Amino acid sequence: MKKKDRRHLHLLCDISELAALLIGSENIQSFFQQAVELVARHMDADVCSIYLFDDVSQELVLEATMGLNPEAVGQIRMKIGEGLVGTTFQQLKPLNEGYASGHPNFKYFKEAQEDPFDSFLAVPILRGEEKIGVLVVQHKTRNYFDEVDVMAMRAIASQLAVAVGNARLLIGNIRLREKLPHDHRIPEDLEYVEGEVASQGFALAQATTFDRRQGALVSIAIDSDCEYSLRDFHQALQATAAQLQDLQYRFSQRLPESASLIFTAHLMILKDVRFAGEMENLIKSGVPPPEAIKRVTQHYVELYSSSPHPYTKEKTHDVQDLAGRILRNLVHGVEEDPFLSENRIVIAPELYPSDVLKLASEDIKGIILVGGGVTAHVSLLARSLQIPMIIANRSELLHIPEGTPVIMDAEIGGIYVQPSDDIILRYESRKQIELKAETLSNEVSPTTLTRDGARIKLLANINLLHDLELARELKAEGIGLYRSEFPFLFRSALPSEEEQYVIYRKLFDGMPGNVVTIRTLDLGGDKLLIYSNARGEANPALGLRAIRFSFRHREIFNQQLRAILRAATEAENARIMFPMISSLDEFREAKQAVYDCMQELARKKLPYHQTPFIGALIEIPAVVEIIDDLVAESDFLSIGTNDFVQYLLAVDRANEKVSEFFRPDHPSVLRGLAKISKAANAQQKELSICGEMAHEPAYIPFLLGIGVQIFSVYPKFLPSVQKIICGFTMSDAQIYADQLLAEKTLKGVREALTRLSKTHNLNKSKG
Ligand code: PEP
Ligand code: MG
Repeated sequence: MKKKDRRHLHLLCDISELAALLIGSENIQSFFQQAVELVARHMDADVCSIYLFDDVSQELVLEATMGLNPEAVGQIRMKIGEGLVGTTFQQLKPLNEGYASGHPNFKYFKEAQEDPFDSFLAVPILRGEEKIGVLVVQHKTRNYFDEVDVMAMRAIASQLAVAVGNARLLIGNIRLREKLPHDHRIPEDLEYVEGEVASQGFALAQATTFDRRQGALVSIAIDSDCEYSLRDFHQALQATAAQLQDLQYRFSQRLPESASLIFTAHLMILKDVRFAGEMENLIKSGVPPPEAIKRVTQHYVELYSSSPHPYTKEKTHDVQDLAGRILRNLVHGVEEDPFLSENRIVIAPELYPSDVLKLASEDIKGIILVGGGVTAHVSLLARSLQIPMIIANRSELLHIPEGTPVIMDAEIGGIYVQPSDDIILRYESRKQIELKAETLSNEVSPTTLTRDGARIKLLANINLLHDLELARELKAEGIGLYRSEFPFLFRSALPSEEEQYVIYRKLFDGMPGNVVTIRTLDLGGDKLLIYSNARGEANPALGLRAIRFSFRHREIFNQQLRAILRAATEAENARIMFPMISSLDEFREAKQAVYDCMQELARKKLPYHQTPFIGALIEIPAVVEIIDDLVAESDFLSIGTNDFVQYLLAVDRANEKVSEFFRPDHPSVLRGLAKISKAANAQQKELSICGEMAHEPAYIPFLLGIGVQIFSVYPKFLPSVQKIICGFTMSDAQIYADQLLAEKTLKGVREALTRLSKTHNLNKSKG
């Protein structure tokens, strides 16, 4: 009989007490047991069970039960969508079945001994977007649970979520640790490593190393006792093709401008009869399939790597990646998680933008880069892809065993290797606090005023089209910098004029009426094309980069200018900006290229924007001496402080060995910026700052104080930048700037900055 006096309200209170208890409790299993017993009692259910999702195996695992066979704990496992529990988890909504075994998805687990329970009610356990598991109650009587029960279970599941979420991390950690070699100890000084935040976020996962200099095949363990047939090989090929197509599709949703060409190369090799055909011939002649895959791959790797052409050389990685995928599908079977990096934290010595994209497509949790600078372009890309990234100058990290659990706290730059349970709980509560703070700070106003009412403009830096959404959500007043080279970086061929046109149209249409500034290609430096020969340069940052590259490759430059002019036809506030301008001559030459393209479009009777604003990006200190003349000939200006600092101080922004010399607080940097701002204001020309300094809390009042009225930052920083600006009056900001400008030494500026940051309560920003 169904009782009507269920005390759901009391239940909720008890559960929240349990949640608090868990923090102090060591034994997670007993916590779960108490929870299921409590829920079963209050719901008058015969059975209550908790299933948790295991990120590593991608399965739901029975963690505790009251009513089913206790020995089934840890044994019953199901995939997403499998059985009623898997279905609830997949659909993310309650499932209330009065006659469970009649449901088409019902699956019988003999371990559970659950035959007599007809009524089944399951609710997903969710915390925000995180899917934690499923809470289930069952009863012998048919049609036992009603709508009130569903509501109560939902409430319980949400209360349980926090506690269970923590516990799940611990369990996950125990499982991860169990998989490690027993004799392995992490050296003490590697247990906590501090690095620089390149892209914010949190992650807890197993680590895997990614070394593009090493063959991907090395790390795949092959059981010598296993025999594989030609049929297994064919199945592995088919599975590989299906996975690549799926990846390509998933990626094109996320990154429309890339058109997912990364995987095209893989697919093309796969379809090349010589590649798979040679493997097949070897297998037919008696060579075991894993060996055949390795031999043919090795042959192609040698062939490609000896080529003088960078594009062909690059194919080495494609062949290795592809062969690794086929081999994993062969030895692990298609059912098994075939991607080495999926759900992992990747530790790498160096990465190209295309590597970051590939990893992102495999849903990695985070990146630890053992080398590189935070303003390097892979960092900007990681930020746009919302992958936490920390740069840590500790090469030993590359040698921790595969699968070691690692926490990345990419809010403060902390890396915990093989963390204790205690650290996991602390990390979890920090994550919650940060997430809460972030939600609060996302309350942005559409206009920005200083405390005394001066109007300041906040624009967005856009790297990928998908940043646009966040920019609009956080009320950017336009785009101050679109890094147009990004779509070029991760493709295996240049985007055509038409493809560029489509991308630029999306930018103009996405910010109607507002400023949209497209910076022409800034290729070269650390943004190298796979299909160019520039890789051979000894000093690419001082080489054929940015406007120099565009001048050298006129057709690429003209195609881009035409695409911008055409896409901007109906835009009200279109702007073209040239990177790395070092002289008036260069600026004039670049402007002339725009006028020539306009004439060409007019001749062809194609519609285009006839009066775009044309500006210079100030990055090369040489222009400081001719700044008045450059301002006079520009419609607007922007300062790229990342490169301005790099070139003024002769310090490679992407080299971690010299990162301590990358000092935006150098007196020459500060005075240079002040001089540029003064010149722009004297001629009433708009000047913005679009480098990383623009979002650094301690520099914002300085920039305001020297007269900068436009800040262009990665969208995520808009709320915090606005908040700081609103807290200052213009005269306070001027005093702030004057104090810094008065300092003659690095030490003096640093001390003044520390003092002023304290007085004004300004904390260091995170990447
Ligand atoms: C800069 O140099 O500050 C800048 C904004 O350009 P990028 O970071 O793309 O080189
Ligand atoms: Mg730059």
